[in-house]
Amino acid sequence: MLIVQKYGGSSLADSGRILSAARRITRLAQQGAQMVVVVSAQGDTTDDLIAAAGQINPRGSAREMDAYMAAGEQLSAGLMAMAIGALGYPAVSLTGWQAGLHTDGVHGNAEIQWLEDSRIRQELEQGRVVVVAGFQGIGPNGDITTLGRGGSDTTAVALAAFLQADMCQIFTDVDGVYDRDPRRYPGATRFGRISYDRMLRLIENGAQVLHDRSVELAKRHGICLEVLSAFTGAPGTLVGPLE
Ligand code: ASP
Ligand code: MG
Repeated sequence: MLIVQKYGGSSLADSGRILSAARRITRLAQQGAQMVVVVSAQGDTTDDLIAAAGQINPRGSAREMDAYMAAGEQLSAGLMAMAIGALGYPAVSLTGWQAGLHTDGVHGNAEIQWLEDSRIRQELEQGRVVVVAGFQGIGPNGDITTLGRGGSDTTAVALAAFLQADMCQIFTDVDGVYDRDPRRYPGATRFGRISYDRMLRLIENGAQVLHDRSVELAKRHGICLEVLSAFTGAPGTLVGPLE
């Protein structure tokens, strides 16, 4: 059983949350699952990085912005691997390029093209949890690329597709997909299941729970996604072929 789990920035916002995610991951690994974990930058790190770069050079090149912004996810990956290690389980962190995620060369909005999966496979064979920095890959000329805001979801779906994972779970700060933003509309209703197409329409209308490309990729590869809360452990919303 190979499980891909993705943790968003709010699910990793402080050390308590990282450790709580690490406990869930470690439990599944101890039960025998091969675990590939994709992490976003902690909390508002990416916004802070963009603001800081803007103070140095508001027109910094897209290449340098990618090199700089990708660091947010790398910090999370290192911390998560150390958190899992602290619980006594072997784990290794990988950047996008170490994980073999090859993209086109569109800095700031790159598209994943293929996965050179040998490193991840080798680490899984050795019995390690593999923690992959989300939101990033390597372009055709060897430079770091990023996938667009919210792109860690797409990292997770791409890994699930290329590794033929049995499950792809997206952990976030809401307990699933709602017809409206539940943080703004208390009367919003949650879907138990939603189709790719309806999910894509919600995103078009402003829903931010998933990166649009992640849903397109899931649809293309027939990957069933589960969107669920990192805090409650309750079942979330399944995004799949049927409503
Ligand atoms: N950290 C990046 C962002 O804030 C990517 C992600 O969270 O998925 O957009
Ligand atoms: Mg997100």
